[in-house]
Amino acid sequence: MLYKTSETQRRRHKKWRDKNPEKIRKYVKEWKEKNQEKWRKYQKQYNKKWVELNRDKVNAYNRNRNPVYRLRTRKKVFNLLGGEFCVLCGCSDIRILEINHINGGGSQQMKQKTKKGIKYSYIQLLYDIKMGRLDKKYFNVMCRVCNVIDYVFRKYGEESIRDSYINTKLKLP
Ligand SMILES: [Zn+2]
Repeated sequence: MLYKTSETQRRRHKKWRDKNPEKIRKYVKEWKEKNQEKWRKYQKQYNKKWVELNRDKVNAYNRNRNPVYRLRTRKKVFNLLGGEFCVLCGCSDIRILEINHINGGGSQQMKQKTKKGIKYSYIQLLYDIKMGRLDKKYFNVMCRVCNVIDYVFRKYGEESIRDSYINTKLKLP
């Protein structure tokens, strides 16, 4: 005869599970250690299924890893933002061109996580601009050198850089 759990029993089990998350965690951990083979097999199956169900995501991920596709996306986004050159010095070497946050906050944004808990990435930023999810007016194109100078000025101010430079010089014997 099949063992049937009644509604009350099920509810009681759930209550117990909600009350004892540590016990469950410990039990799961022990089970995984004891059944490594089984667990690995299950993971493999699960991953395979996930890939099948998320074909689009996987394809997009692979496309982004492809340097040719990535360069094409970068070019497209630079052109959306005004052109493939640095707005400050005019440098047009695509290898060192970057997207600059006009009002700053770029590094903070990179530390953020997306809704799905994935770390925000440069590729994601490119995509969000390309798809119009982020407003173009907050970004422009700068070369790496100008971007760093811009960052330093914004963070420490032009004055303080000069002051600290003079101060260091004064300290010299
Ligand atoms: Zn520049």
